[in-house]
Amino acid sequence: MKTFDYDIIVIGAGVAGGVFAASQNKDKKILVIERDLTEPDRIIGELMQPRGLQALEEMGLAHLVEGFDAQVVEGYKLIKGDETFTIHYKDVDNGIKGIGLRNGKFLTAIRNDIKSKENIDLVEGNVTDLIEENNVVTGVSYTNAQGEECKSSAAMVVVCDGPMSFFRSKLSKPNKKVTSYFMGLVLRDLDLEHPSLGHMIVTGDAPVLVYPIHSNGYRILIDYPGEKPPRIGTKAIEKFKEEISAVLPKEMVPSFVNAIENDQLKVMPNHSMKAQAFRKKGVVLLGDSLNMRHPLTGGGMTATFNDIISLNKALDGVDVHNSEALEKAVESYYENRSEEVETINILANALYKVFRDADLKEACFEYLQKGGEQSTGPLSILAGINRNKKYLLKHFFKVAMQHPLHFVTKPKKQMRLYKNAVGIIRPILKDEDQPAIV
Ligand SMILES: Cc1cc2nc3c(=O)[nH]c(=O)nc-3n(C[C@H](O)[C@H](O)[C@H](O)COP(=O)(O)OP(=O)(O)OC[C@H]3O[C@@H](n4cnc5c(N)ncnc54)[C@H](O)[C@@H]3O)c2cc1C
Repeated sequence: MKTFDYDIIVIGAGVAGGVFAASQNKDKKILVIERDLTEPDRIIGELMQPRGLQALEEMGLAHLVEGFDAQVVEGYKLIKGDETFTIHYKDVDNGIKGIGLRNGKFLTAIRNDIKSKENIDLVEGNVTDLIEENNVVTGVSYTNAQGEECKSSAAMVVVCDGPMSFFRSKLSKPNKKVTSYFMGLVLRDLDLEHPSLGHMIVTGDAPVLVYPIHSNGYRILIDYPGEKPPRIGTKAIEKFKEEISAVLPKEMVPSFVNAIENDQLKVMPNHSMKAQAFRKKGVVLLGDSLNMRHPLTGGGMTATFNDIISLNKALDGVDVHNSEALEKAVESYYENRSEEVETINILANALYKVFRDADLKEACFEYLQKGGEQSTGPLSILAGINRNKKYLLKHFFKVAMQHPLHFVTKPKKQMRLYKNAVGIIRPILKDEDQPAIV
């Protein structure tokens, strides 16, 4: 049997790679290679849904969100002009909560955790290639922080190189689409009526999100629709300032104006990408390098943690040095993971489109505002707690069909609503139904 330097090599110590490494038993010798070990300041991965938190707890990793002023998130406040209402996670299931945090602080906590483990080596380096022997991935080449070219081998390579993944095109059929961009700032010194709620503002043409990330900071994410990034020159910033101030609740405006005038507006593309992996021995994709969805619902980390649990389950009892058993485990992970992530993906991509359609946005707001199962049902799916696709589709169509009489009294509008709903959901479902392995 071939001898390797490590049992597992992980490419990328981001949310996926870091948490995957932290979740492994100490009997596995692991090398984690991360391009940049300094604490990043990013606008991604800052609102964790209740299922994400639950999944961390299940893996014995709840401590990773402790000790850096992360904030409990109890649900959402929806805002459309002067109309507002709140929906709470506790009405879905008592005791569940989400969490708002700074992504950089979270990554530092994850990296400190894996650094403290004797079985894990965490090194700074840029992985440049996968090493293959007889069509089996057996290691990686990387340039370390000193600029030296290095090679390491392992029985299994876990590729977690994130949304801009370099390696995914070698390992899957990436069908990556940019739906929009998020522009992000931090709002400080806010005095909100509901400080522990995420705020979803659907007043304008595109949604705006505001949620707490530390005790005096709220992340604001402003959606900029389309495939092209926003220009952020002085004139454009002035225009955004005016347009966004007009849709924000007035208590947020001074803080927003202060932030946009003094801080750097950060911009990130919002992707959606179905996972379609190739059959390739010795290697597996995890996190955004495998699968992405619109970040409106804050589902990315939750989906990633569900994937880590699915992969760990598939690997349970498998000797990674037994290449046939490893291949079977990886295939079973690819084939079965969708049960745990498809509702998160479908809801994220569909809700974004609903909020971009004036009639459907109106209908969705009205539906959620009714309370009872009409609000707790969709929230249970958004929270990642309920992962039943039929239940999601039931609510999706009920939004469009909540006034069946309108087919008689307002036939044109009602038909448009129905057609648009079908037009949104059909391609999303078709995409999700593509085979997991190609
Ligand atoms: C604008 C935006 C907002 C979002 N907000 C949320 C949210 O609120 N809640 C949520 O749950 N999800 C959110 N997401 C999604 C979430 O951020 C991702 O799902 C999650 O970060 C995926 O983790 P990852 O490890 O795959 O990628 P990352 O966390 O980006 O980690 C990838 C790591 O790989 C490293 N790397 C890359 N290439 C190499 C290489 N060649 N060699 C070595 N290292 C390498 C990178 O430096 C990085 O550290 C958001 C996404 C976007 C775009």
